[in-house]
Amino acid sequence: MRRFRFLRDPDPAAVGDSVEAFLSWLDGPACLYVSGADDSRCRAFVTLLHGNEPSGAMALWRWLRHGERPAVNLVCIVASVTAALTEPLFTHRMLPRARDLNRCFRPPFDDAQGRLAEEILELLRLHRPEAVVDMHNTSGSGPSFAVCTFPDRQHDALAALFTGRLIISHLDLGALMERSDQRCPTVTIEVGGRLDDAAHCCAWEGLCRYAAAGDIFSAGAREGGLERLTDPVRLELRAGVSLTYAQRPCAGHDITLRPDIEQHNFGNVGPQVVLGWTGGIPGRLFRAVDASGACAVDRLVRIEAGELRPAGPLKLFMVTTNAAIAQDDCLFYAVADDGRPISA
Ligand SMILES: [Zn+2]
Repeated sequence: MRRFRFLRDPDPAAVGDSVEAFLSWLDGPACLYVSGADDSRCRAFVTLLHGNEPSGAMALWRWLRHGERPAVNLVCIVASVTAALTEPLFTHRMLPRARDLNRCFRPPFDDAQGRLAEEILELLRLHRPEAVVDMHNTSGSGPSFAVCTFPDRQHDALAALFTGRLIISHLDLGALMERSDQRCPTVTIEVGGRLDDAAHCCAWEGLCRYAAAGDIFSAGAREGGLERLTDPVRLELRAGVSLTYAQRPCAGHDITLRPDIEQHNFGNVGPQVVLGWTGGIPGRLFRAVDASGACAVDRLVRIEAGELRPAGPLKLFMVTTNAAIAQDDCLFYAVADDGRPISA
């Protein structure tokens, strides 16, 4: 397996004239250490855990080319370089048959992805950063948001450097941000869709603020504060249920979702909204478990005359229009329309 390559204070001229050139130059997982004006402290920036999510790597390449000195030492970890460079460029979340790297940050670390995750954790332990930002793109198009496992002043401040929305999730998936603690607050930043200019812009501006701020825990304060979404529930498909996206019900599929379902990302929806069509019943088609472990399917969706509708006033996000992602991961996440957990 590929081990990390270490680069200290890379020459801005060496990082190449495109993000592709930058990644080719790294040639595998890399750890770039940039000395700060105050070299008694350190922050970490992790990106490209998923090879098909380019915004973080683009922002880092651009920032390194500027050759600016960060306020404190910055440790930059660029993980799935090989997957990203596999043609077609930036389309492989991971290499074929590999596990999702952002599900590997807990034992056992016994395959290649597990060892890579363990090495990232070791690098972070070694450098003792005052904060860790792990930057991703969402699978669909949509606005930016941050995710953390528990809210406090530090996580709020970190999130606010990048975005106006914070999701507090207790889902235990093996993601890097689940390793967060008081000594090293860690947030996931989802800057938006991988093809969205707004996402690249969010990544770049956020990274610049993160690198330049003397005190990141006071620099990001926002007027009106953050919009919070707590304990979202995932709507998953049961095994063997087939799904497609179309303007009208498609024969031969258990569920047809509207192709414009992404427009509901972070918007409020109610039972008047038609999400799609199905001939089945919710309990046989879907799986959803709330924070207490209870089934939440009937609190998320209902079916009326073959139309699939929200069961009540909800806020949906990470809505996908990619059937493979819907099948492997989930269709969307939901909270109550006021951002609180869906009540039992
Ligand atoms: Zn990702």
